[in-house]
Amino acid sequence: MTNIETENLTEYILVEYRWVVVMAFLLPLSFLWKVWSCVRNYVVFTLSSAPKMHHKKVKDVQNQVKEWIKAGRTTKLCTARPTWQTMSFRHGVYKKTFTNIKVNLVDVLEIDTKNMTVRCEPLVTMGQLSRTLEPLGLALAVVPELDQLTVGGLVMGTGIETSSHVHGLFQHICTQYELVLADGSVVTCSKDENPDLFYAVPWSYGTLGFLTSAVIKVVPAKKFVRLEYHPYSNLRDLAARFSEESLKKAPHQFVEALLYTKDTGVVMVGDMVDEVGSDGRLNQIGKWYARWFFTQVRDHMEAGRATGRALVEYIPLRDYYHRHTRSLFWELQDIISFGNNFIFRLLFGWLMPPEVSLLKLTQPEAVTKLYERAHVIQDMLVPMDRLEAAVELFHEEFQVYPIWLCPFKLFNQPGQLKVTAGDWQMFVDIGVYGVPKAKGFKTESSTRRVEDFVSKNDGFQMLYADTYTTKEEFRRMFDHTLYDKVRESLTYCKEAFPEIYGKVNRDVRK
Ligand SMILES: Cc1cc2nc3c(=O)[nH]c(=O)nc-3n(C[C@H](O)[C@H](O)[C@H](O)COP(=O)(O)OP(=O)(O)OC[C@H]3O[C@@H](n4cnc5c(N)ncnc54)[C@H](O)[C@@H]3O)c2cc1C
Repeated sequence: MTNIETENLTEYILVEYRWVVVMAFLLPLSFLWKVWSCVRNYVVFTLSSAPKMHHKKVKDVQNQVKEWIKAGRTTKLCTARPTWQTMSFRHGVYKKTFTNIKVNLVDVLEIDTKNMTVRCEPLVTMGQLSRTLEPLGLALAVVPELDQLTVGGLVMGTGIETSSHVHGLFQHICTQYELVLADGSVVTCSKDENPDLFYAVPWSYGTLGFLTSAVIKVVPAKKFVRLEYHPYSNLRDLAARFSEESLKKAPHQFVEALLYTKDTGVVMVGDMVDEVGSDGRLNQIGKWYARWFFTQVRDHMEAGRATGRALVEYIPLRDYYHRHTRSLFWELQDIISFGNNFIFRLLFGWLMPPEVSLLKLTQPEAVTKLYERAHVIQDMLVPMDRLEAAVELFHEEFQVYPIWLCPFKLFNQPGQLKVTAGDWQMFVDIGVYGVPKAKGFKTESSTRRVEDFVSKNDGFQMLYADTYTTKEEFRRMFDHTLYDKVRESLTYCKEAFPEIYGKVNRDVRK
């Protein structure tokens, strides 16, 4: 029995027997949806019909914007994608009052093996891209983890993964954007063509125009990742190793760490290889019966601490890229508590995970309220040398474990994110997802103290989650100089779109 207050019988059933709803409806529906999208995308890609249709689809977006101009520009604009379909657990109430523009562009347009790029429409997902690129021996330079994340969301918001200590954030592997602007025109921008717009687009949350395609860098891919697991029983040593691995002159291709308590965790370093070596076993973590990856890593940590040795495994590349997808990092353990049980995995593992969109669509109000009161989902980006201090504070304020640590290089480029000196600075994304156990935890005040720490330490908050900052604090965290200049220069832009804060602050994203 949960302790959630419900308002009627239906809500009571949905809350107390949520796992039944998930098992009986959401998992089969999610499966059918996945099969349909795979078949549809495969057919469109092999028939090469997408590039021909792209022009027509962009025209359709332009026509909708022109209609809005004709109608007198009385409301603001946003994409028509309902918020239940996005990864963020928040619902954008602004969707109800803004004019919704349908930007239904879902295809991979072309793969250029000479320039090592792929051109995609904004609703292409990470799972779709890794599936398309894998047979060609290619992969995105940065593959944000969860299958359902979209190119549009990752460009307009942000994206990060365990190769980001080499390649930077998702925005840093994008070389060109195509947008429909508020005056109905189509523009392309890159570092050489309309550079101000190009650098202002990332983190703009759809407040400069509608993205209709992006050109993204790809890299050669191999079959497996040779992954080393290094267990630690002390935060200081773990942070030192994590930082050293991220900053090496010739670093491993992948660096990540999971903390299971404040002082225990595992630093993982990996490289692509073509064959399974003799120093470790093959672990096909993508198989339907495989245990959730974070629980496997926890076991490696326990074993490693007992023997004092690091462990090596070989993981198929695509399984590695999407290693946290099946358990939605560790969020699924609160929704399907028996999801990692052997029998469940054997019988139903192939149906996992349920689509986040369907989970959100069927989430009762009482659960939404509980999530707001007693659940943290935050990614805070801080300079690497602040890692230890940040973890200490997160422990004091949240006490949520595991914690995800992912290093990334922040290049000194124009835009909303500023580094303090040099061509680049190494940062770390600290991801906290789960039920806080810290004494005295209060969603707003605890998060505000963490936001304050991040801001004072020249860090940033990912904006898919709740931000409690005031507008002034928000503008201090994100440099708006270029952004304001671009908004000023684009016809109707300020009438069409709110500022970023007006789209991501808690009042409009309840
Ligand atoms: C459970 C969970 C797991 C996550 N895991 C990861 C992870 O592993 N790695 C990672 O990097 N991030 C992760 N994130 C955060 C993620 O990067 C952001 O949510 C990101 O914005 C992508 O989400 P989305 O594809 O659902 O985009 P959306 O939420 O749909 O879009 C984000 C913003 O971009 C705007 N936008 C989208 N498309 C367009 C367009 N065509 N034109 C104009 N504006 C547009 C939207 O209006 C919105 O404001 C995770 C988030 C959650 C909730």
